[in-house]
Amino acid sequence: ENATERRDFPVENLPKSVQIVLRRLEEDGQEAWCVGGCVRDSLLGRTPEDWDVTTSALPEQIMELFGAQARPTGLQHGTVSVTLEGETVEVTTFRVDGTYHDHRRPDQVTFTRSLEEDLCRRDFTINAMALNLRGELRDPFCGQSDLAAGVLRCVGEPERRFEEDALRILRAVRFAAVYGLTIQPETAAAMERTAPFLKWVSAERILSECDRIVTAPYAAATLAAYCSIWFRLFPEMQPLQGFQQQHPRHAHDVWEHSLLALSHSDQQDTVLCWAALLHDIGKPSCFHRDAAGIGHFYGHPAESAALAKQICKRLKMDRKRTDAIVALITAHEVQLLPQRSYLLRMLRKYGAIQAKRLLTLRKADLQAQVPAYAEQDLQKLEQMQQLLQELLQEQACFQLKDLAIRGNDLLAMGIPKGVLIGKLLQDALEQVIRGKLPNERETLLQWVQERWNRRKQHQNPTD
Ligand code: ATP
Ligand code: MG
Repeated sequence: ENATERRDFPVENLPKSVQIVLRRLEEDGQEAWCVGGCVRDSLLGRTPEDWDVTTSALPEQIMELFGAQARPTGLQHGTVSVTLEGETVEVTTFRVDGTYHDHRRPDQVTFTRSLEEDLCRRDFTINAMALNLRGELRDPFCGQSDLAAGVLRCVGEPERRFEEDALRILRAVRFAAVYGLTIQPETAAAMERTAPFLKWVSAERILSECDRIVTAPYAAATLAAYCSIWFRLFPEMQPLQGFQQQHPRHAHDVWEHSLLALSHSDQQDTVLCWAALLHDIGKPSCFHRDAAGIGHFYGHPAESAALAKQICKRLKMDRKRTDAIVALITAHEVQLLPQRSYLLRMLRKYGAIQAKRLLTLRKADLQAQVPAYAEQDLQKLEQMQQLLQELLQEQACFQLKDLAIRGNDLLAMGIPKGVLIGKLLQDALEQVIRGKLPNERETLLQWVQERWNRRKQHQNPTD
């Protein structure tokens, strides 16, 4: 039987727009419930990303009820978007999904008058709960107790559910990684068995799930536990597992090391997380053992970058992110030199955002090594981070546009238009970066003038 329980859920915490939508539908004689992720997140005390409402009202009835505030965003699936006070609520008619042929989307959907039937089609017990205006919770599959126990479990028969829609396999990994859930054994076993169906999922959907997985708080532990699913998507990563580095700096194989680096990178930053996870992906093909039996991986940053680029392409990642990830991996063995001029050069070469990321990546990489070996390097790295922060704070000059003089100043000096102007400006910048000249207009103008005078004398020795 359906577990209906009265619960003191603080309904006043629901956004105003959601309350209005639920009330209007109920006043129209319909059933209306918040459902899915927003209920799950509310029970966890988290702020939901989006609010979904499920209702007995048919799409045309929803359209009519909300008039100009309604937009038919997915009518064939019964979804209408209602925007009130700048907030959008997705309102979907109770429905049952039909058969599946493409392991991704139902061939047809049927509307129903039963909330329970609608909850049956949902993927996991923690996503199959509904909450109404009176704080009444419908939870026929005991999602609340799974949530409390930290368990992810399919609604219904796991293997069938993953076969119907293989995206659910990745959603499971994502929910585990985001909430630190353990996947219930039958559900986990079914994921492994149905993993071949992942090839039916589009690159776009794979990318959006994987982006959320790699930036999740429990990403490393989840990828370690469900690596076979991950290796199916990224076969290039399989050889990392069990690959011993044979170097006193490393206590872990390359796969474990990559996961550790991921766990030490910044979860707010998708680019950095991908770079950390992929930074050593080229190591196995660069392995070489020296006469003393110590392992080395000469050239692995470039090899890793090349493999990472292929992966980004396959995932249809946009050009900008791809380039940023590839650049970080290429440079991840950046020298540890806590000097102003070196950091200014880094800023010039990579820009502020990438330079900061590069240091964070280098730090994460060191934090994933044997502490006794990494300690000194970590100290240098922290000095570099400190210095970088200071340079950015004082708005230090590291690029042409920060320089106190411009091309026009040189033209005014009588220097002819052309490549020489650019060269002189670059030379002046180089002097400033080296700390040989202050970034002051008069000083720089004088310096350029002197160089220009000398150049003229060289070119016209008879003058
Ligand atoms: P989030 O919004 O944080 O991504 P969510 O669980 O709300 O998580 P949505 O994609 O917004 O995910 O979907 C809302 C709800 O619809 C889910 O909670 C679930 O009940 C159902 N759902 C979504 N995708 C699927 C799917 N592929 N198979 C079955 N049910 C699904
Ligand atoms: Mg949602």
